[in-house]
Amino acid sequence: MKTIFEKTSGVDGVGICYDDELKLNGVIPKELLRNDNIGLPQLSELEVMRHYKELSDRNFCIEKGFYPLGSCTMKYNPKVNELLASLENFCNLHPAQSDSDSQGALELMYKLQESLKYLTGMDEVTLQPAAGAHGELTGMMIIKKYFETKSETNRKKVIVPDSAHGTNPASAKMCGFDIVEVKSNAKGQVDIEALKSLLDSDVAAIMMTNPNTLGIFEEHVLEITDLMHKNGSLCYYDGANFNAIMGWTNPRIMGFDVVHLNLHKTFSTPHGGGGPGAGPVCVTEQLKEFLPAPIVKFDGKNYIREYNIQHSIGKVRSFYGNFGVLVRAYAYILMMGKNLKLASADAVLNANYIKEKLKGVYDLPYDEPCMHEFVISGEKQHQQGVSTLGIAKRLMDSNCHPPTIYFPLIVHEAIMIEPTESESKEVLDNFIDIMLKIAKEIEENPEEVLKSPQKTPIKKVDETLAARKPDLAEKV
Ligand SMILES: *Cc1c(COP(=O)(O)O)cnc(C)c1O
Repeated sequence: MKTIFEKTSGVDGVGICYDDELKLNGVIPKELLRNDNIGLPQLSELEVMRHYKELSDRNFCIEKGFYPLGSCTMKYNPKVNELLASLENFCNLHPAQSDSDSQGALELMYKLQESLKYLTGMDEVTLQPAAGAHGELTGMMIIKKYFETKSETNRKKVIVPDSAHGTNPASAKMCGFDIVEVKSNAKGQVDIEALKSLLDSDVAAIMMTNPNTLGIFEEHVLEITDLMHKNGSLCYYDGANFNAIMGWTNPRIMGFDVVHLNLHKTFSTPHGGGGPGAGPVCVTEQLKEFLPAPIVKFDGKNYIREYNIQHSIGKVRSFYGNFGVLVRAYAYILMMGKNLKLASADAVLNANYIKEKLKGVYDLPYDEPCMHEFVISGEKQHQQGVSTLGIAKRLMDSNCHPPTIYFPLIVHEAIMIEPTESESKEVLDNFIDIMLKIAKEIEENPEEVLKSPQKTPIKKVDETLAARKPDLAEKV
């Protein structure tokens, strides 16, 4: 390829000459060459800018209003961390640059690894995975390799609670494990007796989220991890909900062996914005020889990339993960310090406050103290003529992003609310008022509620038509 670009160097970059040049060289086979005009819309820069600005104005974001999207931790991410991530020496550094040229970036990665070790209680970390689900996959690959080196390849089963995030069974399955579901009890927690009945010598691991996706802390977590270890199995902790426990407890204390974190939820990168993420995986001593390479080490003088990891599962991503997300996370951890603990406390307090105000009007299937989020049910409102989807759409007319709906699957008409620590009491009270008002409107005039959303850039859509006959053509 080098020669092609050398030959075409000097071309003005609008791409009109490449075809001819390549045709002449015969580099691209004839049948793959385009002969007629590509037919792209001809627009000026200004027209393009207006188009994208208009699109971005239609978007809802935390800077526009309350965003209680359960399980996604849509907290406010301080803008100063964006500034730090865009510092020239961070964003212009090439990942193939030598260790000696990259000491600052490596130091940041090393110190972030140390911070995450401290927060999770674990012994070693990889920063490579690019998302939570990617971290799960990495963690499950590590567990698989661990049992392979112990010649326990019979361990093919992974236990997943019925309240789990869908990525958990999906990640385990992608590693070739068979999924066994364990049900929740009346308190919304793993049913210990049911778990015991599933244990045998073929079980590799359990994947747990704690607090679980109902926002409830698993009281018997120590008993569960102990049962698993006595069975020769490992314990995986889905740490996407870390915002609930930062600094108060950690997965190590709870008995887990592997944990992934979602930096793009808890640590200052927004989740769900379609942007980059980071799902670091932290492990105990016995699993560190399986981590992806490289890991950043400090030899007392220099920061180095260590590639020599005995049973490494290999790389899971190019280079070292999404570096900009790592910068934001480290900056956030430094900025917050001990206050990380207060962030968790406020997130939990805010969730409990809203829960107590909404219960009674909305069904609360698991009436327990919650952690950072809670799940109510729109069952009663559904019977009155407006489903949870209708409630979500109604909220959009009050400048609120809808909560997560129809998840977790074990709650009918589920509405999962996570206010985060960022919001003031006024915002929480306003949300409570809106939710209570919607419940009243549903009692009195459900037809009116079903007309929402009316104030959003796109009004009520015909979802069946959108799915069956999507019209994706460019409109001029
Ligand atoms: C968000 C989330 C995940 C997945 O994280 P992604 O970065 O979206 O892949 C996994 N588990 C739980 C509990 C989550 O909330």
